Amino acid sequence: MNFRKILLSALISFMLLTSSMVFSQTALNRIKQDIFVLASDSLMGRSAGTKYGDKAAKYIFSRFEENGMEPKYQSIKTTTTEKNIYAVIEGSDPILKNEFIIMGAHYDHLGYKTKTKSGIIDTIVYNGADDNASGTSLVLELGRMIAKNKGDFKRSVVIIAFDSEETGLNGSSYFANSEDRYNDVIISKNTKLMMSLDMVGWLRQSKKLTISGIGLLDNPYQYFDKLSLKGDNTIKFKDFSRSLFTGSDHMPFLNKNIPAFHVTTGIKSPYHKPGDDAELIDCEGILELTNYFYDVVKNFANDEKVKPSGKNPAIKKPIPYNYWGFELGGGNNDHFYNKGNMTGKSDFLYSGGFFAHFSLNGYLAIKTGAEYNYKGAKRYETRVKAHSVSIPAILVLKAATPDNNFVLSVGFGGFYENILDSRATVNGIKVSHYLNQNLIGLQTEFELRVFRFVYGISLKRSLTNILSDPTYGKTNQNSTTFKIGYVF
Ligand SMILES: [Zn+2]
Repeated sequence: MNFRKILLSALISFMLLTSSMVFSQTALNRIKQDIFVLASDSLMGRSAGTKYGDKAAKYIFSRFEENGMEPKYQSIKTTTTEKNIYAVIEGSDPILKNEFIIMGAHYDHLGYKTKTKSGIIDTIVYNGADDNASGTSLVLELGRMIAKNKGDFKRSVVIIAFDSEETGLNGSSYFANSEDRYNDVIISKNTKLMMSLDMVGWLRQSKKLTISGIGLLDNPYQYFDKLSLKGDNTIKFKDFSRSLFTGSDHMPFLNKNIPAFHVTTGIKSPYHKPGDDAELIDCEGILELTNYFYDVVKNFANDEKVKPSGKNPAIKKPIPYNYWGFELGGGNNDHFYNKGNMTGKSDFLYSGGFFAHFSLNGYLAIKTGAEYNYKGAKRYETRVKAHSVSIPAILVLKAATPDNNFVLSVGFGGFYENILDSRATVNGIKVSHYLNQNLIGLQTEFELRVFRFVYGISLKRSLTNILSDPTYGKTNQNSTTFKIGYVF
């Protein structure tokens, strides 16, 4: 830390103590103050679980109070001082006040590191002004505006400053999974929408606000209708967050199937670099966004039904116990002659069809469907090719993992097969059709299902005679099919 920085940090600490004297209390000055205090060197990069993180938390707590909210600490780990700070601003509607809109921003950042250059120790502080003093200042000011006008909001609004985002979304995860209550109502379970404001301090430079995740709601544009930003600043809506799997504080909420947006002015700022400083922040832009989100939150808080669309890429739909799908197969087929010393030779088999799988209980299921087959059979110089449709009825014995994602099964049953058309040739010369049209037989199947993919072997043997010409005696048709399938 050089002398200039020490002086600056001392000055800011002084300003912190005397903030009400230094700044006249306009909204813009409050935002400026929050950015400059949180991103000052005296807070050493606000790393979660450190005394500097704790200092930041205390400052934020007092700012909640000054802004007319009643904040609470929520410790997220018992071993360290990591904590969220939040306040509930109660809604005005006797019923809807038990539902919540959460506006959150993480306040922690990366901390600092020391470097020794020719014997001199240099401290490099990651001030994290855009990431995410900006979002913190926004939700603090937004909370102030809403608390002042809380009669205008039917649902309750939760303003929250998350800790420990940079170390793995710990603060937001804790809140999304916590059973913290307000008026005996569990907040996380009754949240209609969450928004994570992360890096919102570069509006002037990026000229763009990006709101990701609106595809999680039914008819989402109604909430943003008629609202816009000043000048040539645009708003870009995305159905889902592209950084869904690395994500920000909205992720833990998505994982709990709570609709959650990610809001940012982008990563034009020196992202995760020591240069992410307060002087570069567009505080007027933050104020404009605060006013914008005041209106947006009001729309969400007052709409009778904020309905999820049912689409959430973070949630993998479990495979139900009853399902259907399709299968494609390949293998071989032959005709087995019981009479004399005639022998059949196997030939090709292709199949494709649909199946349905109905569970009777955890161990037993019935499988049926309809399968088209194209297959051949050979004997000496005679070759038969036939098209058919087969309908199985199989009792399946299965062993499934509790999540039903892995299933190993064996099935026994029967099939009915209808030969649609057949063609016989001797040395390539066509001879008359000679297969029976209707067949019944036995079918055995071994199957492995991994998530939605099915791998299996099916063995079939006809019990009725495949040949219509009595001179050959009784002839069975045998087939082996290797299948791959997909469950819808
Ligand atoms: Zn961030």
